[in-house]
Amino acid sequence: MGVHNCSIVVLVLLPLLLASSSSAATDFDFFYHVQQWPGSFCDTKGGCCFPGNVKPAVDFGIHGLWPNYAACRPAVGKNKTECWPEFCNAADTFDPLLVSDLKNGMDRNWATLSCKSNDSTGFWSHEWEKHGTCSNMDQHAYFAAALEFKARFNLTQILLDAGVVPSDEETYGVSSILDAITAATGSKPSIGCNKGVSGEMQLYEVYHCVDRTGTRPVDCPGTVQGRKCTDTVQFPAF
Ligand code: 5GP
Repeated sequence: MGVHNCSIVVLVLLPLLLASSSSAATDFDFFYHVQQWPGSFCDTKGGCCFPGNVKPAVDFGIHGLWPNYAACRPAVGKNKTECWPEFCNAADTFDPLLVSDLKNGMDRNWATLSCKSNDSTGFWSHEWEKHGTCSNMDQHAYFAAALEFKARFNLTQILLDAGVVPSDEETYGVSSILDAITAATGSKPSIGCNKGVSGEMQLYEVYHCVDRTGTRPVDCPGTVQGRKCTDTVQFPAF
């Protein structure tokens, strides 16, 4: 191949190579770090189960660390909008061996409450494959970041200190819950609710917003779609 032909090949291939390497990084704006209250997960028609039948601590547990867009956008090539990226790399399946040193922390802080399985591996696989593969982190960094963020704030204690005590009778103002968490953590969270077996509205999830590195708390932009709360909610006993 002559020098001329060679430079044409380079000119044609270089942009393609650059495009393919930069498309490996997923574009998103912030993470939701989501914690679930076990009392609210359990007080539902489906109920709950515990890995190895051992009841977890009376504490929030991690649901996931979810890359999210600041504003929903039209999905490329699909006739719908999307508010977060998901399932970014089907080839990168969850491998428990890659996080074996984190397993104790995950068992204590990220246990499944679903009755579909008796151990948390399926829950962790789902969270990695749906959300983690879009995080621009490897599996170890992803699970470590979620555990480390949870350890920064004792959410259960923050609520107790604000007088938000687990109870099957009391109701609490959503604004006082949000204010208490904001004051203690320095950033504005969001919350999500579900309905208990008697139809009562309950605090189910707390969403902290975290910057793209997975470390720095930032204010959440608004309310979370799909898990609306009324002005007062229960915080059921567990
Ligand atoms: P996501 O909300 O991350 O999109 O999906 C959660 C998935 O994990 C659901 O398929 C749900 O059945 C499963 N799952 C397993 N254990 C749990 C749990 O303890 N809490 C929640 N919220 N989902 C769980």
